[in-house]
Amino acid sequence: MTPICLVGIGKIAVDQHVPAINASNDWTLAATVSRSGTVDGIPAYTDFDRMLTETDISVISLCLPPVPRYAYAAKAIAAGRHVMLEKPPGATLAEVHALQDMAAKAGVTLFATWHSRMAKGVAAAKAFLADKTVTSGQITWKEDVRRWHPGQEWVFEPGGMGVFDPGINALSILTEVLPQPVHLKNAALSFPENRQTPITAQLTFSGDIKADFDWRQEGSQIWEMILHAGDDVVHLQDGGNRCVINNQDVAGTQLDEYPALYERMAQLVGKGASDVDLSPMIHVADALTIGKRVTVDAFHF
Ligand code: NAP
Repeated sequence: MTPICLVGIGKIAVDQHVPAINASNDWTLAATVSRSGTVDGIPAYTDFDRMLTETDISVISLCLPPVPRYAYAAKAIAAGRHVMLEKPPGATLAEVHALQDMAAKAGVTLFATWHSRMAKGVAAAKAFLADKTVTSGQITWKEDVRRWHPGQEWVFEPGGMGVFDPGINALSILTEVLPQPVHLKNAALSFPENRQTPITAQLTFSGDIKADFDWRQEGSQIWEMILHAGDDVVHLQDGGNRCVINNQDVAGTQLDEYPALYERMAQLVGKGASDVDLSPMIHVADALTIGKRVTVDAFHF
């Protein structure tokens, strides 16, 4: 088993990364770096540079929010370590391109993960649509920011992406399963009067594909995508974990999302390869570029 270091012990590290690493046959959690978070029984550093100097752990998984992530990734690559990035892979497209160049020059693996692409129904949807033309689609991604990001002010600060933090998960699935790429035609974004990032977004893509993202959803949470290809209908539900094609449930993949990401990282490191696809983030950048903006009521956690 290969030692791995987890950086940024917050919500997603505790909820998903630690259990996935503990259940993995490829990885052993050898250290953490966090200013306040720790994992029971695991050597804990508060200083990233010290961890890089004092250990020879060759693989670093960064679970920080997107804005601070670049500086950590750049240091890790410069120190010859393989790097796994939580989604979205950075705060800007250019900084992720820079990381790609650095990783290629250093001969290390860079994996920009998209956990929703590993949802159990996504591969089946992709395989079904591979030889078809998608004629229209509707994405509905509505969740409660207070439930999934309790008290996390960074999601409403510049670079936090607001409702695109979950919405980019839908876009990561869309860009994975579509047989032909689409581009954004228009967008409408609503910004709480006291915040820097949007809390809702409605997007229209070429190919008659629409997306409705809302971070104010209380009660049942909705993460679904309906894609029409002529008379065929692909319905991804539960964030892509359930795939229904023409009203028939289709068997999904075995592993949960985060175990599948860690399995893929092991494969990439083994092959000396990288995997960085920025297409979901391009759509977000485009929405923030051409979106019409309205101001809505203040938001407080
Ligand atoms: P979080 O709990 O707010 O942050 C993770 C950790 O990052 C924090 O505990 C903090 O650890 C460290 N951190 C925060 N700001 C930092 C800064 N400026 N400099 C250095 N370290 C900093 O966030 P999260 O929910 O885990 O999300 C982290 C990433 O995972 C995001 O990109 C998010 O999109 C993704 N993600 C989140 C979820 C979810 O449901 N929350 C689901 C899937 C993916 P210390 O203060 O201890 O250093």
